[in-house]
Amino acid sequence: TVAKPAYTRILLKLSGEALMGDDAFGINRDTIDRMVDEIIAVSAMGVELAIVIGGGNIFRGMAGGAAGMDRATADYMGMLATVMNSLALADAISRKNVPARVMSAISIDQVVEPYVRPKALQYLEEGKVVVFAAGTGNPFFTTDTAAALRGAEIGAQMVLKATKVDGVYTADPMKDPTATRYSRISFDEAMVKNLGIMDATAFALCRDQKLPIKVFSIVKPGALQRVVRGEDEGTLVYA
Ligand code: UDP
Repeated sequence: TVAKPAYTRILLKLSGEALMGDDAFGINRDTIDRMVDEIIAVSAMGVELAIVIGGGNIFRGMAGGAAGMDRATADYMGMLATVMNSLALADAISRKNVPARVMSAISIDQVVEPYVRPKALQYLEEGKVVVFAAGTGNPFFTTDTAAALRGAEIGAQMVLKATKVDGVYTADPMKDPTATRYSRISFDEAMVKNLGIMDATAFALCRDQKLPIKVFSIVKPGALQRVVRGEDEGTLVYA
């Protein structure tokens, strides 16, 4: 039996680094497979699932900029990195017999279809996992902002921000043993406390749209499913 989900449509944000596993760069096969098992378990619950994946395991525009590159050019390279990750992710999902589609914010039509909102909505309704590639399509933004933007556009009930830690803590749990996890926190309080849940643009967009964010661990087995069932897992940021 499959437990009833608390949400029917969600946007999952994965960082590119989540694909690296213990490697220093790129995509680790075992890591992506493990992640995909968690993803398809949620899809099997009947939840419509869209994913935005970053590119930090391959290239970050900020690093290119710091090394003297033109920042916008470096950011386009970063966006292309997210396309690679999106292709790898959708491929891994499809190989486990769950239909997945990649839609890109920049046109590279021979490789992936362009992002067209009504088409994305149609795929979601058909039970396909939709992976949004190339971030927002604009330099100087991040995939966190793409997650907030697409989440709002598709009417997701929540943005799930996958991290290595199982939520937002009062202090860095690695350094301070007395740190405790927030089970839930309001946007206003998170802002006052400067908790850095997502980058400022993404955070502001979610806050304006009253789109809740759930910060949870992608490395903790079953955490994603518990989040989708509405259990006390990770940290909920609410309006
Ligand atoms: N990027 C961009 N515009 C966007 C999304 C991403 O220019 O809308 C570029 C930016 O250079 C960024 C890189 O793509 O550094 C990879 O995305 P991000 O850093 O968000 O990936 P993550 O940290 O989640 O792996």
